[in-house]
Amino acid sequence: MSYIPEMLKFNENFVKNKGYEKFRTTKFPDKKVAILSCMDTRLTNLLPAALNIQYGDIKIIKNAGALISHPFGSVMRSLVVAIYELGVKEIFVIGHSDCGMENLNSQQIIEKMLKRGIRKNDLDLISSSGVNTNTWLTGFSNPIESVKETVKLINNHPLIPKDVSVMGFIINPTTGCINLLKSI
Ligand code: ZN
Repeated sequence: MSYIPEMLKFNENFVKNKGYEKFRTTKFPDKKVAILSCMDTRLTNLLPAALNIQYGDIKIIKNAGALISHPFGSVMRSLVVAIYELGVKEIFVIGHSDCGMENLNSQQIIEKMLKRGIRKNDLDLISSSGVNTNTWLTGFSNPIESVKETVKLINNHPLIPKDVSVMGFIINPTTGCINLLKSI
């Protein structure tokens, strides 16, 4: 059963009752910070609450594992736009313990794909066109190392200016405790 009818009904009332009024802000982040973090459901409200981030304060980019899978992919592009167009001066990469991308098993995912009707021929075609699905579906073995690598990648990126500081953190998805990763 889909959540859509209930969601749209709620939305109708939300707009009618001007629920949007308390959410008015601009596209420019007040704190000039962009955060790259994980899409984990536990972090949705916990992460901003744990850092006292208010509405309108920051840009937040989320994906599975807080990863940058390609130096010229959409995450890097979002960071570049955040810096040059939206005034961001600091980037926080925030990974977390107990992440779904930790020790992701690409072979298991491929088996699930086949069971859901994905054709083996299409997987072979993807492989022969140069995409290694095993690598593409691999997460990381250690979230701390992963965050450090991502920070390095951003810091060494040719389009990131040296006046932008990039820092790595790990958040505990239960307590919200955040640790700054040193010596990156
Ligand atoms: Zn995660």
